[in-house]
Amino acid sequence: MNYDVIIIGAGPGGIFSAYELIKQNAGLRVAVFEAGHALSKRKCPIDGDKIKTCINCKSCSIMSGFGGAGAFSDGKYNITNDFGGTLHEYIGKEQALSLMRYVDEINVAHGGQGTRLYSTAGTALKKECIQHDLHLLDASVRHLGTDINYVVLENIFNALKDKVDFFFDTPVDTVVRLEKGYEIHCGNDAHTCDKCIISVGRSGSKWMERICGELAIPTSSNRVDLGVRVELPAEVFSRLTDELYESKIVYCTKAFGDKVRTFCMNPKGSVINENTNGIITVNGHSYEDPAKQTQNTNFALLVSMHLSEPFKDSNGYGESIARLSNMLGGGVIVQRFGDLVRGRRSTPNRLKEAFITPTLQATPGDLSLVLPKRILDDIIEMIRALDKVAPGTANDDTLLYGVEVKFYNMEVKVNADLETCYDGLYVIGDGSGITHSLSHASASGVHVARRIAAQY
Ligand SMILES: Cc1cc2nc3c(=O)[nH]c(=O)nc-3n(C[C@H](O)[C@H](O)[C@H](O)COP(=O)(O)OP(=O)(O)OC[C@H]3O[C@@H](n4cnc5c(N)ncnc54)[C@H](O)[C@@H]3O)c2cc1C
Repeated sequence: MNYDVIIIGAGPGGIFSAYELIKQNAGLRVAVFEAGHALSKRKCPIDGDKIKTCINCKSCSIMSGFGGAGAFSDGKYNITNDFGGTLHEYIGKEQALSLMRYVDEINVAHGGQGTRLYSTAGTALKKECIQHDLHLLDASVRHLGTDINYVVLENIFNALKDKVDFFFDTPVDTVVRLEKGYEIHCGNDAHTCDKCIISVGRSGSKWMERICGELAIPTSSNRVDLGVRVELPAEVFSRLTDELYESKIVYCTKAFGDKVRTFCMNPKGSVINENTNGIITVNGHSYEDPAKQTQNTNFALLVSMHLSEPFKDSNGYGESIARLSNMLGGGVIVQRFGDLVRGRRSTPNRLKEAFITPTLQATPGDLSLVLPKRILDDIIEMIRALDKVAPGTANDDTLLYGVEVKFYNMEVKVNADLETCYDGLYVIGDGSGITHSLSHASASGVHVARRIAAQY
């Protein structure tokens, strides 16, 4: 065997697998294969000046490379079992929380010291939310910020680079089962290993689907979250964001009984484009450094769609809606809330006259031509409910960017060790469909690394 362990993907799942393997047993021969660039070479060409929108780079620097999809993210590590994945269903609630705390300690030790850990425990806001039928979920959140998150990744890479073989710009084509171990193929090269950890994240979802098909690993899929990214003056949400930084609030709509939730809150942040398999959707982030902050706060409002038999392709459904917005707007569409409820499109003039400056250059348009009525009604109802705890949320000038889609990878069948039906083949992180966040993906990496290290 070339290696004891090969890790496919250098996102948080893959990085924390490598970190913990070496920590547990410095003699292990570990290699990481990553489709994207090394951290220092990751640069999204959108500069807001010469290049204003996504140009579909061969390897998207936002989604791929050392640090994975999380590298330029807001670096919010939520320590909770209430959202961010269902890792606890596999490894137990206590173990999941303990691993997330361990990941936090490593981040703090590698540059995150001085960043703040927020908590919903004992907050009066919880009571106020529930009085308006809004449900604030419990969590502690470490906010690293995009800038410190980068420093932490840089430090972890420096700690690993002499102990682990990193192969960047090297997408793995296939994984082949050997009599003992696995062989991975990258272009004309092949490498063998005893154990293989697959951690390909959301950008690797199609690849993961193919590999599961080729190796006959059972999977299931039925969920996609659809919605918009809301942007408003930071003052409107400051009561929530000053105390909690990120608040995950769930609301059940009166009209349809659908659950709508806030997601990925970025106080004084920026709205950004996201490219998943060539489809442009919207996301957001913010910096810890006050000099890089904006006047606006953004967050997503998402409606979970659980599609039932006979329809199975929930991601395909989400993709079609995102494509529709790309078709009408040439990318992401932005609309004022006031225009949406009056049934008219936003125009460049209406946006210019608004009392808010958008942080993303998107096409003014009409989201009602893109999102299904049910989802749009859910979002309007949620905005009006949020207006009761954060007055101003339902102002005419509140901006809605569409569409935001959370694609969920199909769930790969694994056991409590996150091992597939084949000995030594593990699937972790967002690529497994089990995790959907930095902390859960990282924790899944530590969990698997400890299971593997115990075998040597
Ligand atoms: C803009 C943005 C902001 C976000 N903000 C937050 C946040 O604040 N908090 C939070 O909890 N989550 C956030 N997320 C989600 C978070 O980034 C992911 O949940 C997390 O990165 C998942 O980690 P992962 O290791 O499973 O996968 P990823 O981070 O997606 O990493 C997978 C890696 O595998 C590589 N890969 C894919 N296929 C192959 C292949 N065939 N061969 C080799 N390599 C391959 C990819 O290039 C990628 O680098 C954000 C995501 C985005 C895009």
